Order: sequence, then C-alpha cells, then structure tokens
Amino acid sequence: MRAAVLREIGKPLEIETVDDPKPGPGEMIVRVRGSGICGSDLHWAQLGMAVKPGQILGHEFSGDVVEVGRDVGDRFRVGDRVCSIPFIGCGHCRACLAGDVTTCDTALATGLQAPGAYAEFVKVGAAEALHLPEAVNHRQGALVEPLAVGLHAVGQARPDPGARVLLIGAGPIGLAVSLWSRFFGASAVVVSERSSGRRDLAGRFGATDVIDPTAEEVLPAFEAKTGGPPDLIYECVGVPGLLQECLGMAPRRTRVVVVGVCMEPDTIFPFVAMAKEITVQFVIAYEKRDFELAIAMIDQGRVASHEMITDVVGFDDFSEAFEALKRPTTQCKVILEP
Ligand SMILES: [Zn+2]
Ligand SMILES: [Zn+2]
Repeated sequence: MRAAVLREIGKPLEIETVDDPKPGPGEMIVRVRGSGICGSDLHWAQLGMAVKPGQILGHEFSGDVVEVGRDVGDRFRVGDRVCSIPFIGCGHCRACLAGDVTTCDTALATGLQAPGAYAEFVKVGAAEALHLPEAVNHRQGALVEPLAVGLHAVGQARPDPGARVLLIGAGPIGLAVSLWSRFFGASAVVVSERSSGRRDLAGRFGATDVIDPTAEEVLPAFEAKTGGPPDLIYECVGVPGLLQECLGMAPRRTRVVVVGVCMEPDTIFPFVAMAKEITVQFVIAYEKRDFELAIAMIDQGRVASHEMITDVVGFDDFSEAFEALKRPTTQCKVILEP
C-alpha cells in the first residue's frame, strides 16, 4: 500500500510503498477514505518525542472495513463504514470495558506506536471502531476524533449553564471547544485568534464574538463584548508562554482549562495564579461516549463540523500540504484522501 512515512525527524514525510497491515485477533483492516492532519502530528514530525523514524502518522480517520480478523464477532462486516478511536486496547481490562481505552495499560496509539492512517489501509481494534450512519460522509467521519477532543474538554470542564467562555486559539480543537461550549449552554463564547481566516471560521462554530490579540488587549476586549469577565478560559493552542498568559489575564477565582498540547517545557509564575486563586485543569483525549455523541450530533445535523475542512489532498500533494502546516497558515483542517 502507499503511505506517508516519517523517515527522518524534522524532514518532509516520504510517500512510499509499504507492507499492507494484517489484522490480529479482534482487529480489522480499514481502507482509509479520509485522514485529517492534526497539530500533534506536526509536533511529532518536527520534534520526534514519542515517535520513532519509520512511523506512519495519522489518527483522525474514517474508511471502509475491508478485512475482519478472528474473534471480532458479527458487529462488523466487510464494507461497513467506520471511524475509530485511534487506540488498540487489550479489550478486557476495566478501562477497555468502560470505553476508556486511552487509559488501558497495554493500549497502542494508532499513528504514534502502531501504524497510522496517512496510508491506504489502517489496522483498528473492533472494540474501538464505531459505525458511521448513512448521513455522515467520510470527511465528516475523519473529524469525529478532533470533535471528540473538544467534547471531552467541555465535558471535563463542566461549565455552568450561561457561562461566559474565553477561548484562546481557533485551530480545529479550539473550534471544537467553541462548538460544544455553545452546544452545552454557554451564554458567550469569545475566541481570541491571530489568523483572520480562522477568526472568520469561529462564528460558524458557535463563537459569539472574536478578538484579534495582535490588535487589542484580550481581557478588556472580552469584557467590552460580553459585559463582564470570563468564567472559564480554554487554552487551545499549546505553545510555551501561553499558559502563563492565560494565568495573567484570568480573573480572580476563575478556571483555566488546558486543551492545547504543549510538547515542550514551559514556565509559569505560580504566584500570579495563587494570588487570584486560579484553578488550572488539564484535559486530554476522550472516551468512547465522546465519539458516539459526536457521530450522533453530526448525523442529526446539529454540528456543522465539515466547515473546518479548508483543503482536501491526495498522496501526490500530501507531503507538501503537511510541510505547509508547519508554518503559520490560514488553513484549518486538511484532509488526506488516499
Ligand atoms: Zn489529533
Ligand atoms: Zn485494556
């Protein structure tokens, strides 16, 4: 099969022919129809970290089942349209049985430890796969994972109904957090974002207003737009310095929720947060129920997720598209259709 392989950290992905994956017990092979580029993949391709050379990245995908391994049972058949949590767990521990595979001790992360979906075929665990309803196309299917990240963040943060929310960053995850914040009853969702293209997108993802942080000071702008301070600040960028910026602007006794994945050491000044009794909450990933709700809400037309897709590319243009996202960009979600 063709796949985009990370041969060397910091270098462009190589489009190569590699062996087709084979399903083990409880596993299936999916022909990838849509595979989203994630900011985490860009970090890993640049910095290495958890990823070794030779890795096929890609963990936001949907496709068609083409092979079903033994012990899968009759829940899936060849031809089924699916997406999957990008982890393959043991299937029988407490975490796996509860739909919380990311905390399974032996789970392998697809696109990080196991081969990912920047490829024609990808292996998934049947326990982690989910059927896509007729009305959910494969591009939308590839967005279920980032939507689930945002849904889980809001689910963990549990904002009070009517909360005023300040959101830093309108990349795919910021947009997902914006969408679900509004969905679950925030009275105001104001998004601070440097890129004008992404600011324009925010309005279609539930944002009630936007701020250009290069042109105005964020907190006063927020108060002018909403009539009061934020109850909750979501940091959805994940670069060094930004957490401290959030602590600096957070009003007394409010909460900063860290959703942006910062993979470098970062420095904070604890007393700034202490003096205002700020609560800092870290969140990551999702559970199966987040995937299920995200799929159901796309199916019912209650979330216009596909509007975050700003480009769709094939293998021929994929490596270049991936490189372009390492630099400041007006793109949001770019999808590979192998
Ligand atoms: Zn991702
Ligand atoms: Zn397990």
